[in-house]
Amino acid sequence: MNIDLSDVKKISQWMESAGKKELSDIIRFYYEKASESEYSALHQLACKARDMYYHGRVYFRGLIEISSYCRNDCYYCGLQRSNLHTSRYRLSEEQILGCCKKGYEIGFRTFVLQGGEDAYYTDLRLCRIIFKIKEKYPDCAVTLSVGERSRESYKKLFDAGADRYLLRHETANEEHYRKLHPLEMSLENRKRCLYYLKEIGFQVGAGFMVDSPFQNYEILAEDFIFLRELEPHMIGIGPFIPHKDTRFAGYYHPSSRHALILLSLIRIMLPKTLLPATTALGTVDKLGQRKGFAAGANVIMPNLSPLEHRADYSLYDNKLYTGLEASEHLTALARNIESMGLVPDFSRGDYVDLKNAGTSLSSGKACGKEKK
Ligand code: SAM
Repeated sequence: MNIDLSDVKKISQWMESAGKKELSDIIRFYYEKASESEYSALHQLACKARDMYYHGRVYFRGLIEISSYCRNDCYYCGLQRSNLHTSRYRLSEEQILGCCKKGYEIGFRTFVLQGGEDAYYTDLRLCRIIFKIKEKYPDCAVTLSVGERSRESYKKLFDAGADRYLLRHETANEEHYRKLHPLEMSLENRKRCLYYLKEIGFQVGAGFMVDSPFQNYEILAEDFIFLRELEPHMIGIGPFIPHKDTRFAGYYHPSSRHALILLSLIRIMLPKTLLPATTALGTVDKLGQRKGFAAGANVIMPNLSPLEHRADYSLYDNKLYTGLEASEHLTALARNIESMGLVPDFSRGDYVDLKNAGTSLSSGKACGKEKK
């Protein structure tokens, strides 16, 4: 590899035009060969890229897991419809509004409504919920993450006031997609949905699991190329974690290292993107979310769901739900972020270009450094 890693703009430009072979080589290099100092230089560079646009701010979003019912059978997911060992729940409109009320009072200005693909949430029901949230809290953003729907449906949700939509593409490689999903699902439709969402005007999030079964360097390079083409406003990546009731139970024990490398590379390639330090990252590594911020992440989504249902939104084994990632521990979480020299930010936290925010170099916020 002959690239000068000291200059964020140079490596960013290099990654903007790198081909599949070059991208898979750079990922391989960091997975297999990088020394500890090369590894930490990568993370520092990623923070520099983030701080060019976001000035060390870490945005807080309140996550509300609205339903664990799902019509899909994704092979890796604990919510898959053929999992008969899980207890299912869905939140009523009242419960969702209750979560928003609690979230608003403690400071959140973005609510993320996420769930399995649950037919109960018709356009009408969802639009009503969005409308009511926006009516009560007009200064808040509403993010949806409820899977694949028609273009017409997305348009209705947007018109009702939804601002953002998260839909991980899961993998940009056809063959890989087939190994993770049943025949009735298609990568083509997943990608089409992402383009519809973008066209309609949502701030859109794509993403994938790191170390998912059968993933390899070439597939990851295709993910990077797809992300570069789509240019989403948000990118959700986190470690794949096996779930005991799926075919991938015991697949292998994940660690945070690969996810942290990819977080940094993605940050450098698409520096303006909003990049969460995911709950999955915090599940595989106690310090995972903290390390995520030191690797260039700038979003955290503490859980606002009713406590009695948190254990039932079980995508993978040992998912965190009462620790630092929970909204009940917000003060500790914010302090933790401050101790890294970063700035906890409870504003809507839109994608930087939507507000024409500054593009000058870092305001001097330390990255990943402990406060003395
Ligand atoms: N139904 C919506 C959708 O399809 O986008 C949102 C819910 S879905 C459960 C949210 C994300 O969880 C998926 O996009 C997937 O990447 C992630 N996920 C599912 N199973 C997982 C696992 N075993 N380990 C890590 N992440 C997982």
